[in-house]
Order: sequence, then structure tokens, then C-alpha cells
Amino acid sequence: MHMFARTFNKNLVKRVSQVRYLSIHEFRSATLLRQYGVGTPKGIAAFTPEEAYQAAKKLGTDDLVIKAQALTGGRGKGHFDTGYKSGVHLINGAKEAKEVAEQMLHHNLITKQSGPAGKPVSAVYIVERKYAEHEAYFSIVMDRQNQSTMVIASSEGGMSVEEVAKKNPDAIKKFSVGIDEGISDELATKIASGMGFTDDAVSKAATAIKTLFQIFREKDATQIEINPLTETKEHDIECVDAKFNFDNSAAYRQKEVFSWRDESQEDPDEVTASQYGLNFIKLNGNIGCLVNGAGLAMATMDVVKLYGGAPANFLDVGGASTPATIEKAFELIMTEKNVSAIFVNIFGGIVRCDYVADGLISATKNLGLKVPVVARLRGTNLELAQKKIAESGLNKLHLFSDLDEAAAKVVELGKK
Ligand code: GDP
Ligand code: MN
Repeated sequence: MHMFARTFNKNLVKRVSQVRYLSIHEFRSATLLRQYGVGTPKGIAAFTPEEAYQAAKKLGTDDLVIKAQALTGGRGKGHFDTGYKSGVHLINGAKEAKEVAEQMLHHNLITKQSGPAGKPVSAVYIVERKYAEHEAYFSIVMDRQNQSTMVIASSEGGMSVEEVAKKNPDAIKKFSVGIDEGISDELATKIASGMGFTDDAVSKAATAIKTLFQIFREKDATQIEINPLTETKEHDIECVDAKFNFDNSAAYRQKEVFSWRDESQEDPDEVTASQYGLNFIKLNGNIGCLVNGAGLAMATMDVVKLYGGAPANFLDVGGASTPATIEKAFELIMTEKNVSAIFVNIFGGIVRCDYVADGLISATKNLGLKVPVVARLRGTNLELAQKKIAESGLNKLHLFSDLDEAAAKVVELGKK
């Protein structure tokens, strides 16, 4: 294999090689913060304009903020597909809450992070407005290289941390923290002191930081980002925004958190894939790829690119596949209109090659597969697979055992 051709797409590496995670809405994160006694503004989520009106009334003040609940960052600077500006509005009273909710709910919010189509707004979160003495930035992420967690703190919050990193990198401080050691009182105070809070607020911030780390650990989070972590005029510390991600492998023991999944925020085809135990990743090329395993996905990416092609998507069937899930996999690959050829690259270790052949044959028949398929199969029950494919009489199917030949062929066929 041509390992020198490691031209693999960053997005693919991120998606197939890291733990996939659950992202939850801000109002859910706020529930979690309240459970642990971390300060966050009083707020109520609303799913209709009328509920928004009632929520605002219930908060007992007219000085409010209404925030679009869509799983993307940079909502404040975003805009809607209708042209309506900003996913975060300062408002005055219940009537305005209802009016803004009408503009936000079920429209797509487009931000720097959302992609061109944006994310649908599932709810609005109405919160009491806080007046800031100071806004800082705080996050905890997994640091795989050091097999620990990384705490990132900055005295400049509110704006995007990427911008701060460019303009004033010294404002950002990083601390490596062992997941079992946690944050000592001493370290918490050191971190808080560097965040630009007034003396009155430093010890409160240190307590908040320690508790955030406790949440991170106890809830199997992979990321917590509080931006801004605000010191109010009253010198309280409040999480004015919160983005939480959780390790998917922990779903079994984090029932409440995982009950907060909002599938409307996810790609419907990827949701279907996960229901079948498949991992589906969309890219921009024209070759649909069916593989087993993350490593093989990346190798396939390399070799397709080496021969001048570009993958449209990857369907990783993993280990536990049956002919039925393989057929489903083909169906999903074909949802992408750009697909002009399919590349099946399976190493039959746990997946049996004859199962792949069965799935391939039934998909071709049942789905009326019109594009050519190049299959490179190796491993368990290969002979049986070859026999089945030969007997099926499918003329759009090209079988190879050499990876380079197969890749060259699929790129060539995809061009037609
Ligand atoms: P994001 O744009 O998705 O990060 O959404 P945020 O929840 O962070 O809101 C955007 C910005 O609006 C924040 O960074 C704050 O500066 C500001 N903001 C949001 N809520 C409040 C509030 O209650 N009081 C004040 N003073 N500013 C707020
Ligand atoms: Mn924010």
C-alpha cells in the first residue's frame, strides 16, 4: 500500500478515529449545572411561541435574553435562513419573547460552525439577563496525546476562543490535569486567578472550576466549554453559555444525559445508520465506499485519492454485519446523489465475505443499483463469496483481490 500518499481528509480522521460523542442543548447543560450547584442564569426552555410568552412571564422580570437552541457554536454572530439576524437576542418582556421565538423556532440557524445549511432550532431558551463585570473563557477537553485532560482558561471570554488565540495567545492558559487526580484547591485558585476576575470572585470561580471538573468526570464528558464564564456586577460566577459533549461509549451508564439526545440536530441518514450499528460519514466526492474498520477507511481514502478519485462517503460496517445490514449500507451509500461508483473494500476477519456478497447481490436486485460496484474482498469465506457473485450474473460488479487495481478501476468507472 502507498502509505506515502497519506492525503487523508482531516474530517474523516476525526470522525472515524475518535470516540463519537453526544452533544446536548444549552438548556440541558444548564439543568446539569444546577444539579451540581454551579451558577447559571435562571431560565426556561420553550418549544412554541406561546410557551416562550409563558416562560418569560414565569421568570418574573422583563430583562431577558432569548437564545436559539441549535447544536452549533457562534450563535450570537449567526443568522437564520430567513435572513433574520442572530441566535441570541436581548429582549424586554414576554411579548417580545413570543415575537422573537416565532422568528427562531424551526428555522435554520447558520453560523461559522454549522455548515452552509445551518441547524434547525428545536427550542428557545429564555433566561434572565446578567450584567457582566467580566467575561472569561473556560473549557475542559480530552488530551489523548498526554492521556489526561486539558483545562483551558482565558481572561478573554465572550468572543470566539479561536480569535483570542490569534490576537492575544498569551491570554490563553493550558493545564494538564490527570483525570483521577482532579483539580486541587491550589490549582483551582491558580486557574481562577489567571482569568481576570475581581478578588471577590476568585474563590467562587475556583469552586465552580472544581465542580465543572467533577461533572466532567462523573458524567463521562469529552468536552465542557463555558464561554462566557461570567462574573456578574454582584460578583457572582455564572455560566452564561455551556457546551457539553459526552462519550458515546458511556451511554449505558449515563441514562439521563443520553435521554437528552436531539436527533433533529443530526443528519437523518447518519441516524438511520447508527440504528443499524453502522458508522456513516459523508464527504464531497463521487465514490461511495463500504469498508470495515476505521483503519481500512483511512487506507481506502488514501488509495482512492492516489488514483485521482474522491470518496462521496464512507460506510463502516464494523464487525457484526449480516446480509440485511450490508443491504442497508448500500441503500445509505446510494442516498448521496453524487455517487457514480461504489467501492467495497472489506477485509473479512469478523465480517464474512460471503455475507458481503449476499448483501451486495440482494442490494443490486432489490434497490435496482445502477452504478458500477468494485469489490475488493479478502479473508474469511472469500471463495464462497466469489462463487456467489459469479453465479449471480451481475455484470456491474467487478471483483478484485488487489487493492491498487481495484482503486484504479473504481476511479475510472466513477468518471463515466
Ligand atoms: P454563542 O454565540 O453560541 O457562543 O452564544 P452565547 O450564549 O455565548 O451568547 C453570545 C454572547 O452574548 C455571549 O458571549 C455574551 O457575551 C452575550 N450574552 C448572552 N447572554 C447574556 C447575558 O445574559 N448578559 C450579557 N451581558 N451578555 C450575554
Ligand atoms: Mn458562547
